[in-house]
Amino acid sequence: MTTITHWIAGAPYAGPAGATTPVHDPATGEVTGQLLQGDAAVVAEAVRTATAAQREWGATSLARRTEVMFRMRELVVQHTDELARIITAEHGKTLDDARGEIARGRETLDFACGISIASKGEYTADASTGVDVHSMRQPLGVVAGITPFNFPVMVPMWMHPIAIATGNAFVLKPSERDPSAANFVADLYRRAGLPDGVFSVVHGGREVVDAILEHPGVAAVSFVGSTPVARYVREKGAAHGKRVQALGGANNHAVVMPDGDIEQAAAQIAAGAFGSAGERCMAVPAAVAVGEAGDLLAGALKREAERIVVGPGDREGVGMGPVITAEARERVLRYATDALEAGAELVVDGRELVVEGHEGGFFLGPTVLDRVGTDVAAYREEVFGPLLTVVRVDTFEEALDLVNSSPFGNGAAIFTASGEYARRFTHEVQAGMVGVNVPIPTPVAYYSFGGWKDSLFGEHHAHGPEAVRFYTRNKVVTSRWPHQDRPVTASLSFPRTTD
Ligand code: NAD
Repeated sequence: MTTITHWIAGAPYAGPAGATTPVHDPATGEVTGQLLQGDAAVVAEAVRTATAAQREWGATSLARRTEVMFRMRELVVQHTDELARIITAEHGKTLDDARGEIARGRETLDFACGISIASKGEYTADASTGVDVHSMRQPLGVVAGITPFNFPVMVPMWMHPIAIATGNAFVLKPSERDPSAANFVADLYRRAGLPDGVFSVVHGGREVVDAILEHPGVAAVSFVGSTPVARYVREKGAAHGKRVQALGGANNHAVVMPDGDIEQAAAQIAAGAFGSAGERCMAVPAAVAVGEAGDLLAGALKREAERIVVGPGDREGVGMGPVITAEARERVLRYATDALEAGAELVVDGRELVVEGHEGGFFLGPTVLDRVGTDVAAYREEVFGPLLTVVRVDTFEEALDLVNSSPFGNGAAIFTASGEYARRFTHEVQAGMVGVNVPIPTPVAYYSFGGWKDSLFGEHHAHGPEAVRFYTRNKVVTSRWPHQDRPVTASLSFPRTTD
């Protein structure tokens, strides 16, 4: 049994003896580690060392900062398999899925390697007579990230490469469910040559989150997690004068028009619904079948769902692993049973699934429910598990209204062969990320990631150009160098640029 420590000043940090919480292997249900729980004192120590380190790091040349990012990128590539094993052991997703998560997270490191271009300022000569103007973006200081269990490497990697490359120090508070990947990444930064203190990890739960939100030395907080906590973090962080971006939960819809290739749509939707056991913020838990698409879609989804092999994520041939905790399993079961009691039709039933040799694991099979009522909790709320609901409507307009009536607005997809419907959908849907014949429209790292409505509180999306803005402050410099041919006269009137 390992004890998982914090990471402060470039090394593991235990601090004074305190409480621990167990970390489980979701495929067996066994406790595999004990996680140290931080508190306000540990946060204060992390911020103290981060503040000292940031003074120098923020003044380090872009060339030197970029060099560290290139080395870090290479280390992540070299250690992908090791990191994937750490993810699978604590999260449960398959090794291949974990490698995919690392690759998509690494894309932000690719972007950060080009930070000298992404953070360039502007210059205007002769804005007024003898007056030049330029702008620059400067780091905020110490910034923090608070992240969810479902992408223990990728989601923090949306944040720290850009925060660090732009000259900030970064304090990460990862999920307490799968914390080990964060420490591994911290050690890779050390090996990449990042100065001690620029990247720290403080483990724990609400007490640590509150300490971060209250600490006057933390300038900005990036949060990703469920909507109630996102709202809380946004409000509390803002009340303490911080810049906050808080990405919340989701309930993404895929609209299926009868004109397209329904088999192809079903395969894509099943992958979106059951990949990572449905525990992705860009999962597709709700399919909206329009008109005649309904029966064909239900049949094709049944075939797709029944093909999925469920088991431990490190076993060859497995497509879907367990959910994160026993409580999560119970919650998904409740949603399915309540929906059936409310009249939904059972297409595929994964509720009784047992994985031989892994009876203690938190497994569920893919479950598909058809003709689900829009007042049913399994449709309305974020289930975050391998449960796919099919809602039937008659027209495109009804489908669009349904998607837009959701309080969430993370992702939305349409499957169609019609350019007209695709265009109307992309223009009129109330969501931050839209897919056309793509079930999980997660933007590439040089665009930004974020939802609308209750899926994001704050002005900036994550990674890409919006993250550069989030982690920096703009400064505009107006300069004039008077000389004898161009004497400057002072005036009490407000200066005009045409003078
Ligand atoms: P969560 O909200 O329970 O936890 C997220 C973080 O907040 C963790 O670090 C946790 O320790 C902390 N936390 C939990 N409860 C808290 C509280 N009461 N006060 C203060 N801090 C608290 O989320 P989760 O279960 O780890 O992750 C799943 C959720 O994250 C889903 O809702 C999913 O949609 C969402 N998510 C959203 C995105 C996105 O980009 N919008 C991406 C990934 C995950």
